[in-house]
Amino acid sequence: MFNLILFGPPGSGKGTQSEKLVEKYDLVHLSTGNLLRQEIKDKTPLGIEAKSFIDKGQLVPDEVVIGMVDSYFDLHKGAKGFLFDGFPRTVAQAKALDNLLELKKTEIGKVLIRGKTSGRSDDMDEKVQRNRQDVYKKETLPVAAYYTKAKKVASINGMGNVEDIFERLSAIIDKKMK
Ligand code: ADP
Repeated sequence: MFNLILFGPPGSGKGTQSEKLVEKYDLVHLSTGNLLRQEIKDKTPLGIEAKSFIDKGQLVPDEVVIGMVDSYFDLHKGAKGFLFDGFPRTVAQAKALDNLLELKKTEIGKVLIRGKTSGRSDDMDEKVQRNRQDVYKKETLPVAAYYTKAKKVASINGMGNVEDIFERLSAIIDKKMK
């Protein structure tokens, strides 16, 4: 298996790049944001709980997210690899992911970190947006440090258009895969 993490602040265009990468490398896209939005749409108990956190710009509790990822793994047993998008968002999630992958006798191949953001402005409450940035700094940046320590990180110059960035990401993956 070949597993990737795409890492970047809110509004850094992770979604677009993820779609392109999963297609090119035949990976399963695991976006916890997308999974949570589906749960909310389906009005499941998990979705109802998650919505109360998301609406405030807070993270959904680790155990909820980890449980969801675990179930998603079970649904995709034959996968060649996963692309994690928006996950892990806390060091606790990163450790849980390491454990889950170890059980599958695999690991994270690379963590691709994008520098500059696209500056997308969501149609979102200013306070919620500020909250999300604060949470990113406090909870999610330590995840980057965690993978840097494990020597898994590749940083990508985030300037340029979608195709420029995609080429940079692909070059790193190709080098790692061969
Ligand atoms: P963005 O990429 O715009 O930051 P996502 O679509 O990844 O947003 O996620 C939307 C919201 O869902 C997050 O702001 C957060 O509240 C919640 N969420 C998504 N993934 C996670 C996760 N791994 N852990 C905790 N909360 C999450």
